[in-house]
Amino acid sequence: MRGPYSLNRANIAINVPDRTGVLLLIHGDSYEPVYVERSEHLRKALIRHLPESEKSTKIKEHSPDRFMFQTAKDDQKAFDLECRWYHLFKPKCNFDHPLYSTAGVSCPLCGFEGE
Ligand SMILES: [Zn+2]
Repeated sequence: MRGPYSLNRANIAINVPDRTGVLLLIHGDSYEPVYVERSEHLRKALIRHLPESEKSTKIKEHSPDRFMFQTAKDDQKAFDLECRWYHLFKPKCNFDHPLYSTAGVSCPLCGFEGE
């Protein structure tokens, strides 16, 4: 896991490769977990969560100002990590369990496979 870094354009450009992985948005000195997301383009995904570009009003309400991330070898490994962070951090803006598009891949912690 890399970070936490302050959530700004320069930190994203310097520290984050545009690769597959998982990001965690955090708020404040207490590191309140706000949102976990997996992406095949970590850098692009983080740029969408900059305060000036954030589309989710729910995430905006929790005003994330830091982030952490970890790269993964492929989307399935990223899903595995996304599930772990979802259960470990219980981010306030993740209302649903992470989903994986391929049948037969389930959450390593609770076995969730989607609908
Ligand atoms: Zn699970």
